Amino acid sequence: MIAATSARTVSSQWIGGEWVPSDADDGIAVIDPSDESTVATVPAGTATDARRAVAAARAAADSWARTSATERIRFLERLVAGLKARADELADSITTEAGVPTRVAQRAQVGLAIEIAESFADITAKFEFERRVGNSLVVREPAGVVVTITPWNVPLLLSLQKIVPALMAGCTVVHKPSELAPTNSYLLAEIIAECDLPPGVFNLVVGEGAVAGAELAGHPEVDLVSFTGSVRAGREIGRQAAEQIKRLHLELGGKSASIVLEDADLEPAVRATVDQVCFNTGQTCLQWSRLLVPSHLQQQALELAGEIAGQYKVGPPRDPTTDLGPLVSSAGLERVRGHIRTGIEEGARLVAGGAEVVEGLQAGYYVRPTVFGDVTESMRTAREEIFGPVLSVLPYDGEKEAIRIANATPYGLHGAIWSGSSDRAQRVARQVRTGQSDINGGAFNILAPFGGMKQSGIGRECGVEGLDGFCELKSLQFPDRSAKLVGPHLRDEK
Ligand code: NAD
Repeated sequence: MIAATSARTVSSQWIGGEWVPSDADDGIAVIDPSDESTVATVPAGTATDARRAVAAARAAADSWARTSATERIRFLERLVAGLKARADELADSITTEAGVPTRVAQRAQVGLAIEIAESFADITAKFEFERRVGNSLVVREPAGVVVTITPWNVPLLLSLQKIVPALMAGCTVVHKPSELAPTNSYLLAEIIAECDLPPGVFNLVVGEGAVAGAELAGHPEVDLVSFTGSVRAGREIGRQAAEQIKRLHLELGGKSASIVLEDADLEPAVRATVDQVCFNTGQTCLQWSRLLVPSHLQQQALELAGEIAGQYKVGPPRDPTTDLGPLVSSAGLERVRGHIRTGIEEGARLVAGGAEVVEGLQAGYYVRPTVFGDVTESMRTAREEIFGPVLSVLPYDGEKEAIRIANATPYGLHGAIWSGSSDRAQRVARQVRTGQSDINGGAFNILAPFGGMKQSGIGRECGVEGLDGFCELKSLQFPDRSAKLVGPHLRDEK
């Protein structure tokens, strides 16, 4: 097996159980966003590469679908052991290509990714692949050939969150990671290559979205596309899927609100919100980019938010004192700076941060945590996903108005509610149209379904629902109620 990442130039893809040279003439340079150096070159995978990988996944689909859940869990156990053994290497690759501070890459990215992968062993073991309803057997079959397409911001976690349940459901997978942060996927493929998975069950194609990604998403032999990324790309993939009535999961963007009710303890609510907004240098889909506070508390909230944001250290991701590493790319930096300038032009009050070059950090894509006050709903900073460490504070009058403002975006991914009364917070959370809400700082739960309402997406990941999303339902009717459960999923358990 070649060590795909030991060389700085990689020219192969993992297809059909071997490293296959890409058809591409060109490579894609992988940039370290902390100093703008080129750290690797990967193939700009072509449509031919994509088709080859789909053919391999299709050829492996029937026999993998016939394996028992127990056999698949055994594979997962080997995968988790492999991930644990190479966790530091995986985290280091994410630090290098995405600028994620070492501590965050190790714990919140790789550590959590492994926990999520591991959680599917128990979920699969207890999953109801077959159940009896009257004279019917309701059977959950694998959806078939699955394409997983993922972004760069939390690259390993968002990939495993799809790949693992797809494999546990009995599907075969073609994975296309982001071209901005692909080397951690090469490590993943190396780990999978050591796990005795039959050839073609997992395949890796690296390349640009518009070429390799589009070919995979539109391929007629693909049964389900599971995509995490921007609304723009999600819409294109959705259009292609509609042509073929292909199964589709979309995990898209957000503009989530942290709602502080007037009976909440203001300081911890503001602190947690600023902290969450700055996490991963603001490059998370579930970011609480809008802080909604009662008008009479806005000044106090702004002083707190400005002070907290000013305390974070922006710096190189390998410096242990760094809180915020660089943004992922020069395009990302220009976009975030543009949003900050627009906020100022629109009349929002700049309380912390700004668009200027960060002192002492001339090279690299750095930006300071930025807080705006007096933000109104019509401003772009309140409406558009910025994907950087920018918090907009919006004053409101009365609970009803807070709920209305929180809901007044096309997104519906996440959010937070803060109140002195947990019941009141829950009542408000039930009126906000989002897939998840954290009540008074409630912690992330890897077993709870994750996903968005409205334009934040379709479908849910994680937990039982995350596995179910890769299954198709079939009902078999018998003349009587005596039919036995004989499906391959249960074979070993009997
Ligand atoms: P992106 O949409 O540009 O790219 C994501 C992936 O899609 C990449 O692998 C890319 O190559 C591919 N792609 C792009 N165009 C494609 C096309 N036409 N066909 C097929 N594939 C295509 O997004 P990004 O910049 O990598 O990530 C940031 C976005 O992802 C943000 O909007 C963020 O909110 C979203 N996101 C959502 C979640 C979630 O769980 N809801 C999690 C993380 C990120």
